[in-house]
Amino acid sequence: MRSAIIALIVCLCLVPAFAAQDPFSLPVGTVVIDAGHGGHDPGASYNWPFVGHVVYERDLTLDIAKRLSVLLTLSHPELTVVMTRSSDVYLSLSERSAIAAGLDWGAKGALFVSIHINSANAPSANGFEVLTKRQDKPVVLLDEATPLSNIHLFASHSQNQLNRLLNNRNLVVASIFEETLAGQLVTSRSRGVKEQDLWVLNQCRMPAVMVELGFLTNEDEARRLTNSLHRQHLAQVLANAIGRCL
Ligand SMILES: [Zn+2]
Repeated sequence: MRSAIIALIVCLCLVPAFAAQDPFSLPVGTVVIDAGHGGHDPGASYNWPFVGHVVYERDLTLDIAKRLSVLLTLSHPELTVVMTRSSDVYLSLSERSAIAAGLDWGAKGALFVSIHINSANAPSANGFEVLTKRQDKPVVLLDEATPLSNIHLFASHSQNQLNRLLNNRNLVVASIFEETLAGQLVTSRSRGVKEQDLWVLNQCRMPAVMVELGFLTNEDEARRLTNSLHRQHLAQVLANAIGRCL
């Protein structure tokens, strides 16, 4: 009788805890770094006289992504760091999100960070911004492409619940990135967190954030973005933001 009561108490304690487990707020074991554009998709470009050649967004994003990968691997050797591209190749948006969707989380959480550089017609436009997916765009999380251990993480929730949890976590991640960048990128102003209809984020089956790290079309920011020391600093600040999400 006594052991039956203990078993009942244990069940009552465990069931709500298990039902409440949020797969998107688990300690992060996998970080996907997505260097925007690449190959025949150059992204933003500008020919600044002080550089002497056309500067392409695809090259800046790849450089920052590689630096970030090295910093993360050094500071968090336990993390699995995956780059959607590590050279100047073209990847479609669906290929990028498919790389993320096919990753086995190994019972831990995951995070997708997409790196971009902005541009605008107005040369005065400046600052960084943090983009998150539109909350009304549901993500399919469970289908034949879902890795086995992720099925285990997702299966106790409905697709609606999963999307609600994913949306909540996306907002937390976006605000951590915005706070960290605002505090540590002293030469750049924050344009805030924005919810946007971005295909790569809408399709991402894990908490995901996109950072626009400055405007290539603004002279002051272009001078900084084309400076390798500044790109190293950007990578370090991104590593710090990711560190706060783990
Ligand atoms: Zn871009």
